[in-house]
Amino acid sequence: MCAFIPTASLLTLCGILGVTAGAHRLWAHRTYEATPLLRFILMIFQTLGGQGSIYDWVRLHRLHHTHFRSADDPYYSDKDFLHAQVFANIRKLSARQEKLLQTVDMSDLEADRIVMFQKRFYWLLYVVLFVLLPINAPLEYWGDTVQAAIFVAFSLRYLIVLNVSWLVNSAHFIWGLDKNHKQSDSNMVFLVTKSYWPQYHYLLPFDYQSGEFGNYGSGCTTAFIRIFAATGQATKLQTMTTEAVKRGLTMAVDSGKPIVDCLKQAGAEDMCNLQREHYLQNERLH
Ligand SMILES: [Zn+2]
Repeated sequence: MCAFIPTASLLTLCGILGVTAGAHRLWAHRTYEATPLLRFILMIFQTLGGQGSIYDWVRLHRLHHTHFRSADDPYYSDKDFLHAQVFANIRKLSARQEKLLQTVDMSDLEADRIVMFQKRFYWLLYVVLFVLLPINAPLEYWGDTVQAAIFVAFSLRYLIVLNVSWLVNSAHFIWGLDKNHKQSDSNMVFLVTKSYWPQYHYLLPFDYQSGEFGNYGSGCTTAFIRIFAATGQATKLQTMTTEAVKRGLTMAVDSGKPIVDCLKQAGAEDMCNLQREHYLQNERLH
């Protein structure tokens, strides 16, 4: 029997969405708002990702953005992509980073009962959802072997989700625009994905469409958020019009001011808080 393949694939996808649509775009950057039902689903998905609690993940990610590419960035790496992808994610934080972590504003998450519930019972939820469920379900319900459950539904799934989650903080190394951090194959990646969008995320992190892995507006996570927007579970999706981006870039060239400030200014003049209606009726999403 090969029932573990769809089971493992589904659990892998849910774990990834829990990190990207949940911890990253909803809780870390507030790119949209979600009803309690959607927040609960995303909390379960994020637990399936096995990346620590939402609270801890968001706190580190916010610190990462605040101190992006400085020694205070918890994921800082001045070496190659492999170093950024693996080593920067498993090393211990420095005493200074630990101290800075305590200064991150987490008041919005502290007011979210679903996040705080998960934080409080994280290890219990982790053992049940992340460890026991993927191993037990293929054995109990589909008659799969112990080896299939342990090596595929648990280990392979964890390996994939773990690396995709790490990529959220390191994708800019291969898909970014900064020449000092681009690796030799980064232009090959551009040919495949036709995009350097992860860099955009570091400029405008509030855009819900900004994909983590080299896409913008067409990724699986964006589609997931749009589906929930269409059903009314996700609201106030924030994005920026192409015109505002163009205006911001022109402003930066004309004024010589930092590009981020100009983009933010243009965005503030033209920020779209997308309405609750079905997204297909909203021309800004076409
Ligand atoms: Zn981010």
